[in-house]
Amino acid sequence: MKLTEHFQYGLNSPICLTWELTYACNLACVHCLSSSGRRDPRELSTEECKAVVDELQRMQVFYVNIGGGEPTVRPDFWELLDYSVDHNVGVKFSTNGIKLDKKRAAQLASSDYVDIQISLDGATADVNDHVRGPGSYATAMRALENLAEAGFGQPKISVVMTRQNVDQLDEFKAISDKFGAQLRITRLRPSGRGADVWDELHPTAAQQRQLYDWLVARGSDVLTGDSFFHLSAYGEALPGLNLCGAGRVVCLIDPVGDVYACPFAIHEQFLAGNVRSPGGFQEVWQNSELFTELRQPQTGGACRSCGHYDACQGGCMAAKFFTGLPLDGPDPECVLGNADAALAARSDSLEVPRSDVDHSRSAPRNSRVNRREPVPISIAPPPRRPDRACNESPLAGLPTP
Ligand code: SF4
Ligand code: SF4
Repeated sequence: MKLTEHFQYGLNSPICLTWELTYACNLACVHCLSSSGRRDPRELSTEECKAVVDELQRMQVFYVNIGGGEPTVRPDFWELLDYSVDHNVGVKFSTNGIKLDKKRAAQLASSDYVDIQISLDGATADVNDHVRGPGSYATAMRALENLAEAGFGQPKISVVMTRQNVDQLDEFKAISDKFGAQLRITRLRPSGRGADVWDELHPTAAQQRQLYDWLVARGSDVLTGDSFFHLSAYGEALPGLNLCGAGRVVCLIDPVGDVYACPFAIHEQFLAGNVRSPGGFQEVWQNSELFTELRQPQTGGACRSCGHYDACQGGCMAAKFFTGLPLDGPDPECVLGNADAALAARSDSLEVPRSDVDHSRSAPRNSRVNRREPVPISIAPPPRRPDRACNESPLAGLPTP
């Protein structure tokens, strides 16, 4: 059996486990996939988190992607990080940089088992701050400077690709090079608050092509979290697993211990169980009904007859689900435009699936829940047009199939 086939049928432990430690966040990014803002009072306690780490160690999960919310605002974050590393579970954590002062940067630089991703969604403050909030560009830059000064080895700069920043790819690369960082670009999914802004922010068809061409030409050392495999339908396959890993190799533990098939699928339809249940995470991962079902051979549905199916696999389950498209049909960003008619046919009153999990600090989204109404943001065009359940491909460190 080829390695990719092993992945299709799932593994004994996830190779791309995202753990969101808290829904609390100092920012309120308009596209936040987990609709974070306020802490959930049911959040796992320090001791419960340590018990999860113990379990991951027993399952031989070698690293975990920690996010949020903003994980560093948890008072026990640094204690949990040390506990995890001490128990042979390496940590990659995503942060907006708010707590990365010089002292903390120096401490982090002394650990071989910690990797850091600084989120930055614009190569310029205007583009970034329109999405991530005022002052967030400066905060990220300060954190990168502190890490560079402390000699932290190759942090990641993590960019969600939007209509406003595709033209800035070369600038993102230059910023990464300047700080000795590695660029990581990921796809904007219509998840969480991202559903509210997806119509306005997701790259146009021309920009999808521009992004693909840039990755082929310049992306050899750029990480993508395997998130652009739908673009492989353009021709040459992009590096990575090139299939939806949800529940097979990817999953999410959320701050209250709920386990979802993917960080971008926080919805009861993709909820497999809770780490607080008997058997803990291992039971959910290995035996839950949902994950067992997701590991069955996929039929391909309407995409099966497409000549690009082997490369594109019909795209991203979460992107389809949260745009109201059938899961066995084309991705909303199908490069052949095969989802365009279905997207256009959605009426303004159409109810599309929405997550019930919303910790936004602003007005509850219920007023527009189940409606495809965009949040009232206005993003000015950049002043000039010079030119986003994993840090690496889920295949990183594994033999090439
Ligand atoms: S649902 Fe989308 S984001 Fe999640 S693992 Fe599948 S392809 Fe990736
Ligand atoms: S029709 Fe389906 S398989 Fe073909 S390119 Fe579009 S999303 Fe991919």
